[in-house]
Amino acid sequence: MAILEIVTDDHPALKKSCKKVRKITEEIRQLAAGMLDTLDASGNGVGLAANQVARNVRVIAVWDGEEGTDIYINPKIVSRSGQIDYDTEGCLSFPTLFGTVGRDTMIELHAQDLDMKKIKLVVEGFRARIFQHEVDHLNGITFLERVEEGTLKEVIPGEDDDEPEEGEASCAGAETADTVDVERLEEINADEKITGKQPSAGPDGAQC
Ligand SMILES: [Zn+2]
Repeated sequence: MAILEIVTDDHPALKKSCKKVRKITEEIRQLAAGMLDTLDASGNGVGLAANQVARNVRVIAVWDGEEGTDIYINPKIVSRSGQIDYDTEGCLSFPTLFGTVGRDTMIELHAQDLDMKKIKLVVEGFRARIFQHEVDHLNGITFLERVEEGTLKEVIPGEDDDEPEEGEASCAGAETADTVDVERLEEINADEKITGKQPSAGPDGAQC
């Protein structure tokens, strides 16, 4: 097990665009193994980008449901559904922050595996969200730059006793970014303040 240190907050690695991997070296293999171990040990982690462990290369690890977690080299989103889903997102590099982010419901992704074999995937739902979050990381973009105004919440571990409520965090369903009902978002935020509820941390408090 090699647990790598996850960099946080304003660490410069999170703002850098990562370099394409040209060749699978022993160093890349070790990085990939370390990223899988680190994700495994993180508890809630469902995705990790190499620059979150301060390595400037286009490598991501993404949770693959029951089949475990896979490594994707040079991932590139080649098409997007254009249909936007809004849900709560968290990030291992901002461990106490959660907010609503709109992501395409479906994406087509090209990448390579650790043998540099080409991978072509169509991904939807929660995993499509993870891939979009991780590819953003590789481009030096964090979810804080995508979060819907007024939805960012701090959740201190141990104080989030409420069960996540289905639908509560998903503010605008499948509406597009242009038609988000801002008033409704503010209403939801106000409700949470009044009832003192902690924001839902996504389906499983997932972070990536
Ligand atoms: Zn992240």
